[in-house]
Amino acid sequence: MNETGRLIILSGPSGSGKTTLCKQLMKDPRVKRSVSFTTREPRGREQDGVDYHFITIRRFERLIKEGKFLEYAEYCGSYYGTPLEPVEEAIKEGELFILAIDVKGALQVMEKIPETTSIFIMAPDEGALRKRLEDRVTDSATDINKRVEEAEIELKYRDRYDHCVVNDELEVAVSEIKNILGLS
Ligand code: 5GP
Repeated sequence: MNETGRLIILSGPSGSGKTTLCKQLMKDPRVKRSVSFTTREPRGREQDGVDYHFITIRRFERLIKEGKFLEYAEYCGSYYGTPLEPVEEAIKEGELFILAIDVKGALQVMEKIPETTSIFIMAPDEGALRKRLEDRVTDSATDINKRVEEAEIELKYRDRYDHCVVNDELEVAVSEIKNILGLS
């Protein structure tokens, strides 16, 4: 692989604001993001091929067998995975390529590609996290509770990341990440 691009992991609990941060960062034309595959149902206005590639469990498991993922993980009862090919392509093209993925997936990528820059995103506290999940209104109460529980586990891994950013004020968090990536 001709490694000229840079791979960036943004992870942290569901509700920490990774998707919003990603959208802000992508206003810079040098920044692109990976579109993951998932077996969960689309939420709200999510579009297939834009937010995720929504596929069946059967197809996901076939893609695992075919070695098509850089990493994949099970999160709250669904599969999520990063397709390998676009990552290889982005690195070749010299892009800044963001993977917004959970901690289990992040640990796999850090091991496979140690030169990846990893950033852990945190909500200011559990109350704020829960409120963000509730404000999405598309998640059921059970799903929200599962995600808050998962967040507690994920927080324990924040020291494994190169950087940790608290997403309280969106603009502040965006500029902190831009500084880390040398985009300011
Ligand atoms: P959501 O269902 O809220 O879109 O995502 C649930 C969790 O899965 C989030 O933490 C999100 O970052 C993570 N996720 C999204 N895509 C991937 C992926 O390709 N791989 C892994 N490991 N996690 C992912």
